[in-house]
Amino acid sequence: MRCFECGGELIRTAGDVRMTKPDGGLVIFTGVPLNECRQCGEQYVSGEWSEKIGHLLRRADQLSAKETLTVPVIAVG
Ligand SMILES: [Zn+2]
Repeated sequence: MRCFECGGELIRTAGDVRMTKPDGGLVIFTGVPLNECRQCGEQYVSGEWSEKIGHLLRRADQLSAKETLTVPVIAVG
């Protein structure tokens, strides 16, 4: 897999993903597996994880603003 922005090499890492809920509240998912471009730093969340984040985000509607959710880091590769 290559970076869609610059064609650079992607490396597997993990980091924080910040999402904004429809009501404007911020939700931070920590330890999400990411593919990061070595050249431009663009970050890509895998399709599987963007689905999981979507599910969590819908549940997050019941949480207060600025609540932080921690998703477990799973081994990739
Ligand atoms: Zn790039």
